[in-house]
Amino acid sequence: MNNRYSDIRSSVRSLCTGFSSEYWQELDEKAAYPKEFVSAMTKSGFLGALIPEEYGGSGLGIAAASAILEEIHLSGGNAAACHAQMYIMGTLLRHGSLTQKDKYLPKIATGEIRLQAFGVTEPSSGTDTASLSTTAKKNGNEYIVNGQKVWTSRAEHSDLMLLLARTTPIDQVERRHQGLSVFLVDMKSSMNAGLTIKPIKTMINHATTEVFFDDLVIPVENLIGVEGEGFKYILDGMNAERILISAECVGDARWFIEKATNYANERNVFNRPIGQNQGIQFPIARSYAQTEAASLMSTRAANLFDLGEPCGAEANIAKLLASEASWDAANMCIQTFGGYGFAKEYDVERKFRETRLYQIAPISTNLILSYIAEHVLGLPRSF
Ligand SMILES: Cc1cc2nc3c(=O)[nH]c(=O)nc-3n(C[C@H](O)[C@H](O)[C@H](O)COP(=O)(O)OP(=O)(O)OC[C@H]3O[C@@H](n4cnc5c(N)ncnc54)[C@H](O)[C@@H]3O)c2cc1C
Repeated sequence: MNNRYSDIRSSVRSLCTGFSSEYWQELDEKAAYPKEFVSAMTKSGFLGALIPEEYGGSGLGIAAASAILEEIHLSGGNAAACHAQMYIMGTLLRHGSLTQKDKYLPKIATGEIRLQAFGVTEPSSGTDTASLSTTAKKNGNEYIVNGQKVWTSRAEHSDLMLLLARTTPIDQVERRHQGLSVFLVDMKSSMNAGLTIKPIKTMINHATTEVFFDDLVIPVENLIGVEGEGFKYILDGMNAERILISAECVGDARWFIEKATNYANERNVFNRPIGQNQGIQFPIARSYAQTEAASLMSTRAANLFDLGEPCGAEANIAKLLASEASWDAANMCIQTFGGYGFAKEYDVERKFRETRLYQIAPISTNLILSYIAEHVLGLPRSF
């Protein structure tokens, strides 16, 4: 077990006791947003953990933020409804102007403004971000945005969205990642003024949507940093996101291991606990070992990030190992529960569905392997 940040961990644990398995199951059933949980997280100040103190946040690092998210998942909850409020603001913090930071960061820190929608993925480009086709054309003091995003999570529960759009056509730039820019979109004023949001029904309760832009007007002051440099700004934030997601996976894996261990001790078949059989013990023990290893890599990546050291390889490896550890633990847990793993009341099937996401989003396993192959091992780029 990771005991770093024990004070933070115990505060998060105590907050999470107010949100039982039944709470999460009911939301899952209704595909509803966990408003009460997000509001408790906001009031506690945890969502402002990464915002510097001068802007009203706690000024903590990624390792502390990881502890917060790991505990939520270990408690049986799911941080996806609000985790992006923690880290999307990183792009604004690192690349925004002083005016933008003064205007938004204090309100993001208190939760008065929710900046938790991230519009990158598009239906036609998918993983190939550089070929996205949403455009933002400059017209005097405004940009006019047209196009579509898909899988934009929490768009209906955000005041601001961070949007990546093409400002220079791909055939007019030297390298295809150039000519993309990042904007802040004011969601409330944009609704019915060029912005349409359509929820997507999914196998998990994730508040994810399709977002359509039809001549949406964005004022120039909402451009972050330099026009055309947006792809770099987005990449900058990816290590943080990968490390935080790896912490959530570690939390999930630990939840499955605890559930399976308890059940294996309690469930008697053939007049003895099923946990007495090595066929049941070994997968649990293997999951435990796998999770400890993933947790070490996640901690290493977080420490390097907090020291300002390069951590691309570590962040990617942490996300890879942790998402595999949580999925293997989920499989192990449902097997340990037998038929009862399928009964909603035990919650295993919900967490099983939820943890599967992390091998796809925010980045799929293949793309991480490809990063390691190319950037760590020096193998030829494959695409
Ligand atoms: C629930 C959910 C929430 C999400 N939230 C957000 C969000 O808030 N904002 C956002 O912008 N996006 C979001 N996403 C999108 C997510 O990041 C993408 O789904 C993911 O990056 C994969 O893109 P894709 O689905 O278009 O897959 P594709 O790019 O179509 O890829 C399909 C499969 O092919 C593989 N593949 C593609 N190219 C290669 C290659 N060259 N080599 C090897 N394998 C390859 C991929 O790994 C993948 O397994 C979310 C997705 C989901 C499911």
